[in-house]
Amino acid sequence: MKRRMRFLLALLLAASCVTLGGGTLKDLPVDREYPIVIRHIVDPRLPALSESEFQDMLDRCKAYIHEYLGYRVSFFIQGNQSMQAFREEVKGLDELPMMHELKKSLLDINSESDRERLSKYIDELVSSAPETTLRRHVPGFERYNNRKEISSHLYRQYVEKLRKIQSIKTSDGTRLADAPYDVTLTYPFWDMALRHLKGAHFIFTNTIMADMEVDIPIYVALRYGITTGLVEHNIHNSYRAAGVIFTYPFLSRDGFFVSERGKETPAELATDVIALYATHEFGHFLNHFRDYYDHENCIMVPAHDLDYYRWYRDKKEKKCALKHEKLKMF
Ligand SMILES: [Zn+2]
Ligand SMILES: [Zn+2]
Repeated sequence: MKRRMRFLLALLLAASCVTLGGGTLKDLPVDREYPIVIRHIVDPRLPALSESEFQDMLDRCKAYIHEYLGYRVSFFIQGNQSMQAFREEVKGLDELPMMHELKKSLLDINSESDRERLSKYIDELVSSAPETTLRRHVPGFERYNNRKEISSHLYRQYVEKLRKIQSIKTSDGTRLADAPYDVTLTYPFWDMALRHLKGAHFIFTNTIMADMEVDIPIYVALRYGITTGLVEHNIHNSYRAAGVIFTYPFLSRDGFFVSERGKETPAELATDVIALYATHEFGHFLNHFRDYYDHENCIMVPAHDLDYYRWYRDKKEKKCALKHEKLKMF
């Protein structure tokens, strides 16, 4: 799911859809099988699923898509692509006006004025949020005396945890967010890559999206800028959609992720947990469902923290019987 709402972008997108002759999502009938081309993009510095684990994960995902979403799909896997090769492939997008627009919200954690901007943004976000939203999304809401306390806590946690993530040591001794990989951790890079992706419909990559931004909803601020998956409008393919799943938050052995994940996923379930989380993204891609936050045991409720195994157990326990509206546009 697109993780933010920007009115300007919505307008830009609407305009581009008009010029493309209709970019709205068409309902996909369930009585046929859908071919989906999968690309595996690998940052060589980070742990990744082996080829057999990757195949196993996709087999499970295919079964879950049928079980949870009602669609039959067949996956076609492209050969692995290195992250550097992918960066080269999408380099031309850097010059597009929409990329410049998206980058206006992207901040540098090492810049004091950017941190000040984030602090102000979170203050505004928290002070203008309805109480029901804060109750739903802020863990331990009752413990805070006022909204200022909530926003200070949110800001401090965002900066502190994102710093930890970006400075994780990778296998070649560089830090996770060191150049030239820094850009591949950001929302503008992936959002634009998905909009313009050619030759594949869905990406699995062993990196993570973790950046500092304004114009984000409260639940992204609460996850310190981490995004596990994303489905976006695509201007080329017939689904009018493209998606990505980031597997680093599931596979990282770094102490930060081990502790944030809480109870560790049993090794034999690792591919199953990723497969079910990918199913959530396919709920956007195929069913055109949006995210929900108030449904119980619902595949369309995203994980609100990094405890993916708890999220998984909750979806396996039973399924949501409530109605889900279908979007006309992501
Ligand atoms: Zn979602
Ligand atoms: Zn539901």
